[in-house]
Amino acid sequence: MSGISPDYCSSCKHTVWPPSGRCPRCLGRTVRGILPDTGRIVGFSGDKSGRYCLVDMDGVRLVASYSGKSPADGQKVRLLRAWTEGGRSRFEVGPS
Ligand SMILES: [Zn+2]
Repeated sequence: MSGISPDYCSSCKHTVWPPSGRCPRCLGRTVRGILPDTGRIVGFSGDKSGRYCLVDMDGVRLVASYSGKSPADGQKVRLLRAWTEGGRSRFEVGPS
């Protein structure tokens, strides 16, 4: 599955997340795209209530909860779930 649809700049190819009609770098027009459902962990933290990691998915970085044993920097992960809660986007990833 993929629940993440960022915009891509038609001029400089910058990935715009959250989606916006204009590119923040060059003010070019953007088009909606769909991300692959896999990414890599670029940072993480956790406590007894759960683990959270920063995931880079094709240039889009998002904070996601992690369902798995022990996350590691550079680990490949798959998007398991994307939903909205209290107006905020939430994501869950797991080992790929
Ligand atoms: Zn641009």
